[in-house]
Amino acid sequence: MATAIYPGSFDPITNGHLDILARAVGVFDRVIIVVLSNTRKAGLFTHSERVEMIHEVVTSDRVSVESFSGLTADFARLRGARILIRGLRAVSDFEAELRIALTNRKLNPDLDTVFLMTSAENLFLSSSTVREVASMGGDLTGMVPPVVAERLRRKFGHVERSEPIAVNSEA
Ligand code: ADP
Repeated sequence: MATAIYPGSFDPITNGHLDILARAVGVFDRVIIVVLSNTRKAGLFTHSERVEMIHEVVTSDRVSVESFSGLTADFARLRGARILIRGLRAVSDFEAELRIALTNRKLNPDLDTVFLMTSAENLFLSSSTVREVASMGGDLTGMVPPVVAERLRRKFGHVERSEPIAVNSEA
Protein backbone atom coordinates (compact mmCIF):
# COMPACT_ATOMS: atom_id res chain seq x y z
CA MET A 1 0.00 0.00 0.00
CA ALA A 2 1.51 3.33 -1.04
CA THR A 3 1.26 5.97 1.66
CA ALA A 4 2.09 9.56 0.79
CA ILE A 5 2.46 12.45 3.18
CA TYR A 6 1.37 15.97 2.26
CA PRO A 7 3.09 18.40 4.64
CA GLY A 8 2.53 22.12 4.93
CA SER A 9 1.38 24.97 7.13
CA PHE A 10 -2.25 24.90 5.92
CA ASP A 11 -2.90 28.27 7.57
CA PRO A 12 -5.66 27.87 6.43
CA ILE A 13 -6.32 25.07 3.94
CA THR A 14 -7.29 26.53 0.53
CA ASN A 15 -8.87 25.25 -2.68
CA GLY A 16 -5.29 24.99 -4.01
CA HIS A 17 -4.37 22.49 -1.29
CA LEU A 18 -7.60 20.57 -1.92
CA ASP A 19 -6.81 20.47 -5.63
CA ILE A 20 -3.40 18.88 -4.95
CA LEU A 21 -4.93 16.54 -2.37
CA ALA A 22 -7.57 15.26 -4.81
CA ARG A 23 -4.84 14.56 -7.36
CA ALA A 24 -2.73 12.76 -4.73
CA VAL A 25 -5.67 10.57 -3.69
CA GLY A 26 -6.04 9.62 -7.36
CA VAL A 27 -2.50 8.26 -7.39
CA PHE A 28 -1.73 6.95 -3.89
CA ASP A 29 -3.67 4.56 -1.63
CA ARG A 30 -3.42 6.68 1.48
CA VAL A 31 -2.52 10.32 2.06
CA ILE A 32 -1.59 11.80 5.43
CA ILE A 33 -1.90 15.58 5.63
CA VAL A 34 0.75 16.81 8.06
CA VAL A 35 0.20 20.20 9.66
CA LEU A 36 3.71 21.26 10.55
CA SER A 37 4.88 23.69 13.16
CA ASN A 38 6.92 26.24 11.32
CA THR A 39 9.37 28.23 13.36
CA ARG A 40 9.73 30.87 10.60
CA LYS A 41 6.06 31.72 10.36
CA ALA A 42 3.77 32.98 13.08
CA GLY A 43 0.42 31.45 12.28
CA LEU A 44 -3.01 33.02 12.05
CA PHE A 45 -4.81 29.86 13.16
CA THR A 46 -3.64 27.53 15.93
CA HIS A 47 -2.62 24.01 14.99
CA SER A 48 -5.81 22.54 16.36
CA GLU A 49 -7.92 25.06 14.41
CA ARG A 50 -6.07 24.15 11.20
CA VAL A 51 -6.55 20.43 11.82
CA GLU A 52 -10.25 20.96 12.67
CA MET A 53 -10.84 22.89 9.43
CA ILE A 54 -9.15 20.15 7.40
CA HIS A 55 -11.38 17.55 9.08
CA GLU A 56 -14.40 19.68 8.17
CA VAL A 57 -13.55 19.87 4.47
CA VAL A 58 -11.83 16.57 3.69
CA THR A 59 -14.20 13.63 3.52
CA SER A 60 -12.18 10.83 1.87
CA ASP A 61 -11.56 7.87 4.19
CA ARG A 62 -8.17 7.44 2.51
CA VAL A 63 -7.00 10.77 3.90
CA SER A 64 -5.96 11.36 7.51
CA VAL A 65 -4.70 14.49 9.23
CA GLU A 66 -1.94 14.82 11.80
CA SER A 67 -0.15 17.65 13.47
CA PHE A 68 3.62 17.35 13.86
CA SER A 69 6.34 19.47 15.32
CA GLY A 70 9.66 18.32 13.90
CA LEU A 71 11.29 17.36 10.64
CA THR A 72 9.09 16.10 7.81
CA ALA A 73 11.77 13.52 7.04
CA ASP A 74 11.36 12.06 10.55
CA PHE A 75 7.57 12.06 10.32
CA ALA A 76 7.79 10.07 7.06
CA ARG A 77 10.03 7.51 8.74
CA LEU A 78 7.64 7.21 11.69
CA ARG A 79 4.72 6.45 9.38
CA GLY A 80 6.67 4.30 6.91
CA ALA A 81 5.88 6.71 4.06
CA ARG A 82 8.23 6.96 1.09
CA ILE A 83 6.41 9.63 -0.89
CA LEU A 84 6.15 13.31 -0.02
CA ILE A 85 3.65 15.39 -1.99
CA ARG A 86 4.21 19.06 -2.77
CA GLY A 87 2.18 21.30 -5.01
CA LEU A 88 3.75 23.48 -7.67
CA ARG A 89 2.25 26.70 -8.86
CA ALA A 90 4.35 29.17 -10.80
CA VAL A 91 8.02 28.67 -11.70
CA SER A 92 8.78 30.87 -8.71
CA ASP A 93 7.88 27.95 -6.38
CA PHE A 94 10.46 25.72 -7.99
CA GLU A 95 13.74 26.88 -6.47
CA ALA A 96 12.54 26.78 -2.89
CA GLU A 97 10.80 23.43 -3.45
CA LEU A 98 13.94 21.92 -4.99
CA ARG A 99 15.96 23.02 -1.97
CA ILE A 100 13.40 21.50 0.43
CA ALA A 101 13.21 18.26 -1.60
CA LEU A 102 16.98 17.81 -1.69
CA THR A 103 17.28 18.57 2.03
CA ASN A 104 14.58 16.01 2.81
CA ARG A 105 16.34 13.43 0.65
CA LYS A 106 19.56 14.02 2.55
CA LEU A 107 17.75 13.60 5.87
CA ASN A 108 15.79 10.56 4.70
CA PRO A 109 17.18 8.89 1.53
CA ASP A 110 14.10 6.62 1.31
CA LEU A 111 11.80 9.61 0.85
CA ASP A 112 11.00 10.86 -2.65
CA THR A 113 9.21 14.13 -3.33
CA VAL A 114 6.47 14.04 -5.94
CA PHE A 115 5.31 17.37 -7.36
CA LEU A 116 1.77 17.75 -8.57
CA MET A 117 0.66 20.67 -10.71
CA THR A 118 -2.27 22.76 -9.68
CA SER A 119 -5.18 23.79 -11.93
CA ALA A 120 -4.92 27.12 -13.73
CA GLU A 121 -7.53 28.76 -11.48
CA ASN A 122 -5.41 28.05 -8.39
CA LEU A 123 -2.11 29.22 -9.87
CA PHE A 124 -1.93 32.36 -7.77
CA LEU A 125 -3.79 31.12 -4.74
CA SER A 126 -1.91 30.86 -1.45
CA SER A 127 -2.81 30.85 2.23
CA SER A 128 -1.11 34.24 2.60
CA THR A 129 -3.27 35.77 -0.18
CA VAL A 130 -6.36 34.32 1.46
CA ARG A 131 -5.36 35.76 4.86
CA GLU A 132 -4.80 39.17 3.29
CA VAL A 133 -8.13 39.22 1.44
CA ALA A 134 -9.90 38.00 4.60
CA SER A 135 -8.27 40.64 6.77
CA MET A 136 -9.85 43.33 4.54
CA GLY A 137 -13.25 41.62 4.56
CA GLY A 138 -12.99 40.59 0.88
CA ASP A 139 -14.99 37.91 -0.91
CA LEU A 140 -13.30 34.51 -0.51
CA THR A 141 -15.55 32.60 -2.92
CA GLY A 142 -13.52 30.17 -5.02
CA MET A 143 -10.46 30.53 -2.77
CA VAL A 144 -11.45 28.46 0.24
CA PRO A 145 -14.40 26.20 1.15
CA PRO A 146 -17.34 28.04 2.81
CA VAL A 147 -16.57 26.72 6.33
CA VAL A 148 -13.03 28.07 6.09
CA ALA A 149 -14.32 31.42 4.80
CA GLU A 150 -16.65 31.57 7.80
CA ARG A 151 -13.78 30.87 10.23
CA LEU A 152 -11.73 33.61 8.58
CA ARG A 153 -14.58 36.10 8.85
CA ARG A 154 -14.92 35.28 12.55
CA LYS A 155 -11.17 35.50 13.09
CA PHE A 156 -11.04 38.99 11.62
CA GLY A 157 -14.37 40.03 13.14
CA HIS A 158 -15.99 40.69 9.77
CA VAL A 159 -19.65 40.19 9.04
CA GLU A 160 -20.84 39.45 5.53
CA ARG A 161 -21.70 42.62 3.58
CA SER A 162 -22.74 43.21 0.00
CA GLU A 163 -21.68 46.85 -0.39
CA PRO A 164 -18.10 48.09 -0.19
CA ILE A 165 -17.49 50.69 2.51
CA ALA A 166 -17.30 54.14 0.89
CA VAL A 167 -14.20 56.12 1.72
CA ASN A 168 -14.65 59.86 1.64
CA SER A 169 -11.25 61.34 0.74
CA GLU A 170 -12.41 64.87 1.62
CA ALA A 171 -13.35 63.93 5.17
P1 ADP B 1 4.41 25.68 3.34
O1 ADP B 1 4.36 26.74 4.39
O2 ADP B 1 5.20 24.47 3.72
O3 ADP B 1 4.70 26.15 1.93
P2 ADP B 1 1.67 25.61 2.60
O4 ADP B 1 0.53 25.22 3.44
O5 ADP B 1 1.76 27.04 2.18
O6 ADP B 1 2.94 25.13 3.35
O7 ADP B 1 1.70 24.71 1.30
C1 ADP B 1 1.79 23.32 1.36
C2 ADP B 1 1.98 22.78 -0.05
O8 ADP B 1 0.85 23.08 -0.84
C3 ADP B 1 3.17 23.36 -0.79
O9 ADP B 1 3.74 22.36 -1.60
C4 ADP B 1 2.57 24.42 -1.65
O10 ADP B 1 3.33 24.66 -2.81
C5 ADP B 1 1.26 23.75 -2.01
N1 ADP B 1 0.25 24.72 -2.40
C6 ADP B 1 -0.23 25.78 -1.72
N2 ADP B 1 -1.14 26.47 -2.44
C7 ADP B 1 -1.24 25.83 -3.62
C8 ADP B 1 -1.98 26.04 -4.82
N3 ADP B 1 -2.79 27.08 -4.97
N4 ADP B 1 -1.81 25.17 -5.82
C9 ADP B 1 -0.96 24.13 -5.69
N5 ADP B 1 -0.22 23.87 -4.62
C10 ADP B 1 -0.35 24.70 -3.60
